[in-house]
Amino acid sequence: MSDEEYMKLLDRAFESKPAMAASTSDFVIPKVDLLVQGNKTIIRNMTAIADKARRKPDDIGRYISKELSVPISVDDQRLTVNSKFNAADLDKIINRYFSTYVICKECSKPDTRLDSSGRGMFTLVCEACGAHYKVKSY
Ligand SMILES: [Zn+2]
Repeated sequence: MSDEEYMKLLDRAFESKPAMAASTSDFVIPKVDLLVQGNKTIIRNMTAIADKARRKPDDIGRYISKELSVPISVDDQRLTVNSKFNAADLDKIINRYFSTYVICKECSKPDTRLDSSGRGMFTLVCEACGAHYKVKSY
């Protein structure tokens, strides 16, 4: 096969590929709104982040606490981490939480819930495409 033929074949392959659904790309993982007070770091928009994930602030708080190995407390809208962190650190953890525990790996939609399935595992159930698979619990 000549290069030219090969390129034509490639072109055709790209053309026949269906366009990505636009609806999956409008989901944006929220950024943390941080306030550092002395030795404490406060995420002021914890409720907004949790709403976006459709999780409880406490559930995400538990994950953050484990990832950072520091105690946290949740009150009202805010989550307080008992140590100093910057926004980049916390955004990274929130991003990891969303990609592991919120966004369906089959269809990339965030319409999921976590069921406890014992033995250190959760079952992530996607309400958009019906996929369900196990993820490590925290
Ligand atoms: Zn799905």
